[in-house]
Amino acid sequence: MNKPADARVSVEKIPLWIDGKHLTPNVARWGEVTNPATGAIIRRVPFCAAGEIDAAVRAAQNALPGWAATSPLRRSRVMQKFMELMQRNQQALARLVTEENGKTLTDAVGSVQRGLEVAEFACGIPQLLKGEYSENVGPAVDSFSIRQPVGVCAGITPFNFPVMVPMWMAPMAIACGNTFILKPSEKDPSPSVMIAELLKEAGLPDGVFNVVQGDKESVDAILSHPGISAVSFVGSTPIAKYIYEQSARHGKRVQALGGAKNHAVVLPDAELDFTADAIIGAAYGAAGERCMAISAVVAVGGIGDAIVGKIKERAQKIMVGPGDKEGIDMGPLVTAAHRDKVASYIDAGVKEGARLVVDGRNVNIPGYERGFYLGTTLFDRVKPEMSIYRDEIFGPVLSVLRADTVDEAIKVVNANPYGNGTAVFTNSGGAARRFYEEVNVGMVGVNVPIPVPMAFFSFGGWKSSLFGDLHVHGAEGVRFYTRTKQVTARWPRQDTPAPGFNIPTLG
Ligand code: NAD
Repeated sequence: MNKPADARVSVEKIPLWIDGKHLTPNVARWGEVTNPATGAIIRRVPFCAAGEIDAAVRAAQNALPGWAATSPLRRSRVMQKFMELMQRNQQALARLVTEENGKTLTDAVGSVQRGLEVAEFACGIPQLLKGEYSENVGPAVDSFSIRQPVGVCAGITPFNFPVMVPMWMAPMAIACGNTFILKPSEKDPSPSVMIAELLKEAGLPDGVFNVVQGDKESVDAILSHPGISAVSFVGSTPIAKYIYEQSARHGKRVQALGGAKNHAVVLPDAELDFTADAIIGAAYGAAGERCMAISAVVAVGGIGDAIVGKIKERAQKIMVGPGDKEGIDMGPLVTAAHRDKVASYIDAGVKEGARLVVDGRNVNIPGYERGFYLGTTLFDRVKPEMSIYRDEIFGPVLSVLRADTVDEAIKVVNANPYGNGTAVFTNSGGAARRFYEEVNVGMVGVNVPIPVPMAFFSFGGWKSSLFGDLHVHGAEGVRFYTRTKQVTARWPRQDTPAPGFNIPTLG
């Protein structure tokens, strides 16, 4: 995949962003960025090594004291300006997302919107950083807590949301007074540089936000760098676990969000057409490359055949093609290798004995024969031991399992190692309540197929979908990017006794 540096001089090189400036590094390894719709190589991305990471850390360290001392109100004003600039550039950012990731333009616009909403939330940082104060915890002694920045923070992000996921992290970290280094996915790295340019235009001082590019080597240099205090990661489960372990080993605060296998549980009293419409968007939107995509339906009681019929009818009508064309519902997968991996799961599902209801292999998009396309695939009668159920496929492949009772359906969801999102479809308030009380999953929808929390709540899964304690953005984002300091203060007067020899019992 990686060619020597001089192999494609005509293709644009994606820069790093260090200390407020573009930088084209002199690195030994470069990656290729493709347009998944056409299969063409459109850009080259530098793969940073320890030296480039160190340069970014030094820039972030130099900027830290000044930025941490900047009043939260001023930091908030930079965020407000940045949010306005993102709104103004929403289409341009979305076009970059579609070009390198493949998702449809409308979907990309939506993802940029969800990202800029985190910046909007971060504008409230003066309020969010308020601590607590208790007067007279002892005679003439007051105690108060303050939240201070953690230091230099790093974000390592996946290919599927090249704007939204970095925006889950950076605005929160920066608004809290930290400086930040982003290492985006090497598959669609360009939007990260545009985010950096907009932050600078918004008035962010140089060095507060930096972008490095690369693969495992750059990630390892981040994880072992003593100048980085906190790491936020979003990506697949094996890498999330690795990031969690390595960050802990090097004494860093860490939150590592992993992969998913999200279930929609359809109860016998669900509205059929409404449910089928919801599942179609959640399973096949963004070609299934969403961490909150529904990849398994558990049909309860007698509703199985009817819901499979409705999903089949709709799945066959989905228009597949280049994401920047009008009328396209589903774009290509991100790379040829990923498309082939997903297709191999369809082969495996057939071999393992699942019933193939809609087959997405062999789609042909005239004029785009070299693009990385797959059609929609639907399997029925899937069993938990089959690989199409066990593994996160991350493509437009939906599996339907059958369960006799709600109890059995909840057991299926809870037996799965992932716990990112899930949804129940029903008209029964009692059944829904039982479902959201009993499932071991971080984000639950009731007749809402993709229950992604808004920016003012926090986003995160349970079990193998998150390693660490705190979710991203919202109140938990503020907690992750700040350290609490508790101050106990006394101002001596002539009549206050001096501190004694033993541990004080202030009250
Ligand atoms: P990935 O794990 O392959 O890559 C994520 C990041 O880790 C990238 O920046 C990549 O360069 C880096 N990386 C890859 N291999 C590495 C290695 N061996 N060592 C160190 N770093 C490495 O994930 P992806 O394919 O880019 O994204 C898809 C995955 O992300 C899916 O599993 C999806 O469920 C998950 N995801 C989860 C969430 C969530 O909120 N839980 C959100 C979006 C995506």
